[in-house]
Amino acid sequence: MAPKHIKYVERDGCVPSELINFTTPMKQKSISLIYNVCEYSELNEQDRHLIDEAKQATQRSYAPYSKFHVGAALLMDNGEIVTGSNQENAAFSSGTCAERSACFYAAAQYPGVPIRKIAIAAWTRLHHSAEDADELCFQGKPISPCGPCRQALLEYEALYGPIEVLLYGRDEVYILPSVSSLMPLSFTEF
Ligand SMILES: [Zn+2]
Repeated sequence: MAPKHIKYVERDGCVPSELINFTTPMKQKSISLIYNVCEYSELNEQDRHLIDEAKQATQRSYAPYSKFHVGAALLMDNGEIVTGSNQENAAFSSGTCAERSACFYAAAQYPGVPIRKIAIAAWTRLHHSAEDADELCFQGKPISPCGPCRQALLEYEALYGPIEVLLYGRDEVYILPSVSSLMPLSFTEF
């Protein structure tokens, strides 16, 4: 079956206002993502340490509303590790995510220093009691950054080169080669 496409049609130079379906042949492109999956124990010492820092950063999050505690740890090109955690606010949009708190803090502390890696970990109290072992509170599957955090990280990647992404889960860790791999067709040219 020929793929269906939707085309916007302009009238008299006005804002596109009408949708029509048509089945004429059209060039197609695909975008694929290849990433590595392993267990925490299979990582090298540097990556395990960065994930440990992200996990510790979750303890410094302020998440009274979502109960979802996220930590991010950045490995800077100068060897420093910068961490961040989600900081919520009663006026919800005033808060920010762990990834953005980390990368903005890094840029403020080390202007011009590239970020080489980011590790992200998260846990929630929603499904666990305070008596649970800490490790069991962490997400089994990795979580990935929200759209605005991807955009924010992408800005530094565009400036300084690829940022490897380590997404921690108790069951498995995802390793992505760059932030841009998480955000194809991104807004990077302006
Ligand atoms: Zn975010």
